[in-house]
Amino acid sequence: QAKERGRNGFQFYDPQMNTNVVEHLHLISGIRTALQKDEFKLYYQPQFDLKSERIIGAEALIRWKNPELGMIPPNKFIPVAERSGQIHEIGAWVIDEACRQAREWMDAGLPPIVVGVNLSPIQFRRDNVERDVMNALEHYNLPPSAIELELTESLLIVESDQISPLLKRLRNLGVHLSIDDFGTGYSNLGYLSRFEVERLKIDQSFIRRMLENKNDEGIVRAIIEMAHSLGLEVVAEGVETAEMLVHLKGLGCEFGQGYLWSPALPAAEFVEFIRTYQPK
Ligand code: C2E
Ligand code: MG
Ligand code: MG
Ligand code: MG
Repeated sequence: QAKERGRNGFQFYDPQMNTNVVEHLHLISGIRTALQKDEFKLYYQPQFDLKSERIIGAEALIRWKNPELGMIPPNKFIPVAERSGQIHEIGAWVIDEACRQAREWMDAGLPPIVVGVNLSPIQFRRDNVERDVMNALEHYNLPPSAIELELTESLLIVESDQISPLLKRLRNLGVHLSIDDFGTGYSNLGYLSRFEVERLKIDQSFIRRMLENKNDEGIVRAIIEMAHSLGLEVVAEGVETAEMLVHLKGLGCEFGQGYLWSPALPAAEFVEFIRTYQPK
């Protein structure tokens, strides 16, 4: 941890993070308190099979409600936690909490759903991820196929030498693997066939613009065709309208999530959603 801090210690301002020094330091101490006081929660966004419109999964998305600052979006504090090293503790909590929830839902007799867990590439700089996943699966006596790890393209590019065998072990165990925000990263497609990934999640920026912009439509179409030719399935993120759904189905996209159906919900509301949901 000290090593990581040392590496980044003097880079106080990063325009990409949209935070200044003071805000940055404020967030770091806020995150520390949040970990101590259990201020983090996981919300769950349902994922759908586009053909049947049945629920097949739920993406776990972290939420932080600070008593003074209110809701702080993950795009604001996750990058800070990645810089400070706190992402390791947050990440371990997320894995454990997602598995705990999946077990609770199984026990409650909910229809089987795969719970998606977002992992930061920084988490893989220590070799705890695999252990954290194994521990949680064992602790909650959860079949590995009940969870899906969402990885990023950058992870597969930059640190592929150690990552490849690790992902292979997880995959052999039965854990599902997907690539998040596909299309926004390095777009080196060669790695796709080398890893044990089963699904691509197309970044919502392409989906959002798809109906108005021919280029974005072309990118979505190309990603889906390429994925299928490699034997991968596709999830569209940010499906907001019925028109988008029709279009994505036409392109052969298998799965989707988005405000058309539901935003991410607290666990109790998610269960209520599942109980009352009817495919249209
Ligand atoms: P992501 O993993 O790509 O998650 C999808 C984001 O899109 C979520 O934002 C979700 O609420 C939002 N979204 C879903 N459907 C729609 C839609 O129809 N329209 C629009 N405009 N947005 C939609 P959220 O929850 O704010 O999370 C943002 C990012 O923060 C995530 O992107 C992920 O990269 C990161 N993140 C969230 N939770 C975790 C976590 O537990 N661990 C890590 N390492 N990162 C996380
Ligand atoms: Mg994700
Ligand atoms: Mg995404
Ligand atoms: Mg994202």
